[in-house]
Amino acid sequence: MIILFDLDNTVYDLLGGLEKRFKGYKREYQKTYSFSKTKGVVAQDVYALFGDPNFFYELKPFPHVIDAIERLRNYGHYVRFFSSCMNEAVAGAKAQRLWEDLPFEPELCCYLGDGYPNIHHHILVDDNPIKIRGILERNPSSRIIITKHNYNQGIKGQGVLYIDPFSPSYVDELLASVLVFKTRMMI
Ligand SMILES: [Mg+2]
Repeated sequence: MIILFDLDNTVYDLLGGLEKRFKGYKREYQKTYSFSKTKGVVAQDVYALFGDPNFFYELKPFPHVIDAIERLRNYGHYVRFFSSCMNEAVAGAKAQRLWEDLPFEPELCCYLGDGYPNIHHHILVDDNPIKIRGILERNPSSRIIITKHNYNQGIKGQGVLYIDPFSPSYVDELLASVLVFKTRMMI
C-alpha cells in the first residue's frame, strides 16, 4: 500500500521547535490549528519563523516515527512524504533533514501555500484538521491516521484513526492501524 506522511507535527515535532524558540509557549496551549490567538506566541513571529529554513532543519522527529517508517517499508509498503513550505529554501531544508534521518532516499513533494496537492495514496498520516476534512470530502476512499494533538481531536469517520506521536507503543499502533485499513479495503 502507498502510505503518505505529512512532515510537520507528523514526522517532525514542530510544536517542540516552537517551545524552544518561545519561552512562554507550550504545546498544550495549541488548541486550534491557527496560531493567531495562541498563548505564549506572537502569530506574526511564528509565521516569520515558518520562512526560516534553519528552524525546520533543526526540528527533531517524534521518538518512534523513523522506526515505524522503516518497519512499514520492511513489510512491503511504499512510503512517501509531502509538506507545505513557505519558500524553496525551507523545502530544501526539509528535504535535507529527511535525507539525513532516513536510511533510504525519500520521495518528498514540497508545495507552496495551503492548497493540498493531489498525491496518490491509500493511507494518509497527517495532523492538519482542515486538510484532513477536505481530503475526506473529496476522496472518501482515503484512510487517515491522525497524529494526535490538542488541535485536531474531533474528526470522526470510518476511515479515521488517531495515534499519539509520543506513545511508547506508537510503532505497534501505526502498524496495527495500517493492517486494519488494509483488511477493510480487501473485504
Ligand atoms: Mg502537519
